[in-house]
Amino acid sequence: MRHFPIFLSLAGRTALVLGAGEAADTKARALRDAGASVRRVTKFSPELLDGCAIAVGAGAEPDALAALSAAAQARAIPVNIVDHPALCSYFSAATIHREPITIAIGTAGTAPALARLVRARIEALLPANLGDLAAFAGRFSARIRTALPALSARRALLDRLFAGRIGELVLAGETAAAEAALTAALADAPASLPGIVHLVGAGPGAPDLITLRAQRLLGEADVIVHDRLGTDAVLDLARRDATRINVGKARANHCLKQHEINDLLIRLAREGRKVVRLKGGDPFVFGRGGEEAAALEAAGIAFEVVPGVTAALACAAQARIPLTHRDATRAVTLLTGHGADGPARLDFDALVRSRATLAIYMGLHALPHLRDGLLAAGLPPATPAALVERGGTAHQRLLSGDIASLAAQAPAWSSGGPALILIGDAVGHGLPPA
Ligand code: SAH
Repeated sequence: MRHFPIFLSLAGRTALVLGAGEAADTKARALRDAGASVRRVTKFSPELLDGCAIAVGAGAEPDALAALSAAAQARAIPVNIVDHPALCSYFSAATIHREPITIAIGTAGTAPALARLVRARIEALLPANLGDLAAFAGRFSARIRTALPALSARRALLDRLFAGRIGELVLAGETAAAEAALTAALADAPASLPGIVHLVGAGPGAPDLITLRAQRLLGEADVIVHDRLGTDAVLDLARRDATRINVGKARANHCLKQHEINDLLIRLAREGRKVVRLKGGDPFVFGRGGEEAAALEAAGIAFEVVPGVTAALACAAQARIPLTHRDATRAVTLLTGHGADGPARLDFDALVRSRATLAIYMGLHALPHLRDGLLAAGLPPATPAALVERGGTAHQRLLSGDIASLAAQAPAWSSGGPALILIGDAVGHGLPPA
């Protein structure tokens, strides 16, 4: 985040607007709408800033604009010089008004036209009288707080209020019916809710490759327990005030032991929290999600599993490598090259005989072992193979070849990110990068 977004109270404060023309007029009007008294001038001198809470310049001599910027910044008065990002200490936002809700969109001064496009899209999503809903909730907030002292219970009710029938009634203007429904809901709502754990697949790390359900749960969870693997951008989807706990594991550098993670999830749920256990890719593909689910079940904790895009699918898609192909292979095998202690013991004969595309997780360090095993079991040495690092993200890298060339080149080629090996005739049907 390059800037710190805030909403400024300007009622009764003075705003300096330097310059003439449409941009200056628009700024002056917006400042007046926010309750400021506007000091409108066409020439600058520093004492004009006395008592000002904010300053804007547009359509004046370049020297005057530069002087305003310098003087305002020397006094720590927020200043915006229209179309001169270098002279600004703040940028104004494109705004959407649903009083008392205001949505502000910023582009750090880089692309105001894009901000207008985003605004138009959001405008179209939001009912015109959305503000009525906020006002309605505001009127009842004291009663809701008294009836439901526990935050999680309150939040559950408010989610229902906003998204459900009560919200629809408010938006339809049926305030009396909405009030009656809310009163009934308050009488029925349990004072506290049992906790729950959602085992959520985060996909390969790109935030737009998670499911809509995962996105919603991230926005609702009280606590996010997450791994190290490529989930930072995804974490930005979480509620700002959610607690984040990193239990991430790097190879041979375990932060928390698996049983400690299990115990943590159980404890958080018993405290009544709504927990998202965020795991790279899919929770049930080499993610030890099965062990966490079993521990939760044994402890009597409610849980739900939300699938994610697993590395094999993300890597194949972005590298333009089909996993199956009618002319090549009709099966895919997901396997791991790494066992509990050292290289996995694999049935190489069966793997080669199956002619399946092999998608090998955690295989980088076991590559020589995989090469020896597969070739000894009769894999044709020219079988196409690929190594995909940070697949499905903006930093994806691809190394193509065969199993022997990958094993030879991988140590120098790897930049340390998670990498997946693909082997099989279907890999030869891959297309060059776009
Ligand atoms: N549950 C995860 C896998 C966890 S095991 C999933 O479904 O994808 C960790 C291994 O997954 C890594 O060693 C690597 O082999 C693979 N992996 C995870 N993310 C990856 C990515 N973005 N690109 C390539 N391989 C990845």
